[in-house]
Amino acid sequence: MFKKLASLFGSKASKPASDGFFLDVRCSQCGEQFHLYINKSWELMQNFEPDGSVTYFLKKEIFGVGCKNRMQVHMKFDAHKKLVSKQIENGEFVES
Ligand SMILES: [Zn+2]
Repeated sequence: MFKKLASLFGSKASKPASDGFFLDVRCSQCGEQFHLYINKSWELMQNFEPDGSVTYFLKKEIFGVGCKNRMQVHMKFDAHKKLVSKQIENGEFVES
């Protein structure tokens, strides 16, 4: 009985993460490109609006190995974790 339960939970945990997206950015100094996976369930932070609703945001610092440039990514999401706006400093978004 317990073994059966454990295997059920195991298969649930190993399913591919669907709640996320890829973030492609390029360093404005050396041109290095980064291909990052953002997991919306883990990496988004809650933002409590004055009207009581909850929106989400992401702040990410990205830096490469051979370069001192640090890129700062700011993204805003609505209550359904849908992207509303994005900004980047010291780099640029790569449109696929
Ligand atoms: Zn760089």
